Amino acid sequence: MPLMQLDGVTVQFGGLTAVNELSFAVAEKTIHGLIGPNGAGKSTVFNCLSRFYQPAVGKIDFAGRDLLALRSDQVMNLGIARTFQNVELFRGMTALENVLVGQHSLGGSGFFGDLFATSKVKQAESARRQAAMEALEFLGLADTANSLVGSLPYGKQKLIEFARALVSKPKLLLLDEPAAGLNPQETSHLGDLIVELKDKLGITILLVEHDMSLVMRICDTITVMEFGRKIAEGDAKTIQNNPAVIKAYLGE
Ligand code: ADP
Ligand code: MG
Repeated sequence: MPLMQLDGVTVQFGGLTAVNELSFAVAEKTIHGLIGPNGAGKSTVFNCLSRFYQPAVGKIDFAGRDLLALRSDQVMNLGIARTFQNVELFRGMTALENVLVGQHSLGGSGFFGDLFATSKVKQAESARRQAAMEALEFLGLADTANSLVGSLPYGKQKLIEFARALVSKPKLLLLDEPAAGLNPQETSHLGDLIVELKDKLGITILLVEHDMSLVMRICDTITVMEFGRKIAEGDAKTIQNNPAVIKAYLGE
């Protein structure tokens, strides 16, 4: 049983078909890559999953639910979190405050609370802060908790956005070009963190990324799009040797 299944999804903007009869399944606790040249429709798919866009046709099943019948906030409560292609943080707030914004549901001790056995007797607010701190710690950002986000290097800002997405206890994490703007060391570290999210926290990841060496290193399955359509799917080796994929990337 896949965690998520897209079936014949088509998204149009006026006369432009941005996503064209797209079907693919994301298996639970895997890292699933979604790649393709610029304009292929990857971000549009993400915007459908987070319910910013409504497909003209098609179905999306998430954990047995009809995703397209839900609102954006309901999708978050169901366990889908995302980061954006460009960092979207509150620059005048601290890292910790930014992560707290990600905790949409009050009351529960949250993912990191459960995981690290946060005491149930704590006040909700302090439990929330604790969970946010633990998310920052998990990503090696504890020392930035009280820094203003705008004063931090770009690589750290990207990870803070990660922490904010994580603290909402997602089953599925949508990452839109997380390595963009990162140097090779930061990218390699990010790759290790994404693998840890899967291995240690059991999170399923749908990854849009242009850095092919990162994609090939960490993805279990890769779906390749071109002009809104799926042109290939498989593991890294299969994809790298697929003539249609090579052609799409070389622009022949
Ligand atoms: P990718 O993320 O793969 O680079 P996008 O999903 O951003 O591609 O875009 C796919 C196509 O849809 C592009 O041709 C883009 O210009 C178009 N597009 C995306 N969003 C909109 C929008 N809100 N209005 C009109 N066209 C859009
Ligand atoms: Mg995009």
